[in-house]
Amino acid sequence: MDIKAPRGVRDILPDESWRWAYVLDVTAKTMADFGHSEIHLPIFEQTELFSRGVGDTTDIVEKEMYSFTDRGGRGITLRPEATAGMVRSAVEHGLCAQGAASRLWCWGPMFRYERPQKGRYRQFFQIDVETLGLAGAVADIEVIALSAEIFRRLGLKNLEVVLNSVGCPKCRPIYREKLLAHFLTNKDKLCKDCLLRLDRNPLRLLDCKEPGCGAVADAAPAIYDCLCDECAAHFEDVQNGLNTLGFRYKLDKRLVRGLDYYTKTAYEILSGDLGAQNAVCGGGRYDNLSESVGGPHLPGVGFAAGVDRILLVMEEQRCSFGKSLKKEVYVVAQDDTPAVRNAALSLTHKLRMEGIPVEQDAGDALGKKRSAKAQMKSADNAGVAWACIVSQDEAQKIVVVMKNMTTGEQTTVQPEEVARRVKEA
Ligand code: AMP
Repeated sequence: MDIKAPRGVRDILPDESWRWAYVLDVTAKTMADFGHSEIHLPIFEQTELFSRGVGDTTDIVEKEMYSFTDRGGRGITLRPEATAGMVRSAVEHGLCAQGAASRLWCWGPMFRYERPQKGRYRQFFQIDVETLGLAGAVADIEVIALSAEIFRRLGLKNLEVVLNSVGCPKCRPIYREKLLAHFLTNKDKLCKDCLLRLDRNPLRLLDCKEPGCGAVADAAPAIYDCLCDECAAHFEDVQNGLNTLGFRYKLDKRLVRGLDYYTKTAYEILSGDLGAQNAVCGGGRYDNLSESVGGPHLPGVGFAAGVDRILLVMEEQRCSFGKSLKKEVYVVAQDDTPAVRNAALSLTHKLRMEGIPVEQDAGDALGKKRSAKAQMKSADNAGVAWACIVSQDEAQKIVVVMKNMTTGEQTTVQPEEVARRVKEA
């Protein structure tokens, strides 16, 4: 076939999808333990939500969004991230009305037109967590602890938590001026992109990956001296809380994240097992996002973790994915008589109703029934515990030969006995 999946987009095939289900199961349980309720959000939103929310000087909005005009002439964008949609939804449905707090989570595909490489795709999956309506540091600590707990339960090792504060609209402009002055004196060492971003958003220069810019950014002043009293106290409270919980983290003055809506806390969790795209999770506080998209004041803090990358790290570190969903039984029809075929069909269905995973012969691509020998071969290939061979005895009664595929032992039983014996084994 000439038609392939578009560049940067992957199929998650059956031998991988059960691992995804495991990650999401563990995630859902952890969310419940931390009091977060699941929410399902649309995959596309009005473009304005992202251009105003994420910020139009960000890479995401400038170059990575899948935007189009729908047949009704509306500007639509496939969501590049979930936070803006979460805030939109909470405001639209009054989830935080009268000062209530909302702890939410969702997961699903996000879309960014990025250069594909290992761990970076154009459609990728995020687990997204948001706590809305709480301004205090406890909410930040809970969110960071929740992300770390999901990774702990999944068995991820050697992760590094990096933490920073990006200030607020009161103190960030002061830092912005200091930074701008620093970068202007080192203008000749900056890359093309950074020169373009210099006036509009000098903070973004801090996370440029170009070595020349990196050296200039390393020598740049840290934000800590510029933080206002409120941001400084919040930053200290977050660190104290993490210390109380015994979390190890590193302060990184260059951590600014690629989205403009962050205020105060910014953090990432990194893995050394991912290569260049080393962040499994990123998040922070965004107290002004709601207002920037036309909503009321609604403080928030959250994170997004990349499911594709979590899976990459788990595979690299040989983490357990629980039990794969294996078929237990293969039902074989000994011959092609209607009585035997119907009995095989019924046995298969009854076992499935008992919650036993079963496969049966359903003919071939031409609709032809297959011989008992060919069916036994399929049972072998399927790696099942039991082959149940359905036949008629001399008295025309339906009987089932249960073959233990590990030991080769065979027992003849009545069809009604099969489920009990499989469960007891
Ligand atoms: P962000 O929304 O950019 O803060 O990203 C949060 C997390 O999503 C990152 O730490 C990654 O784990 C994941 N992520 C972001 N972009 C991609 C991508 N293009 N492909 C795969 N995972 C991604």
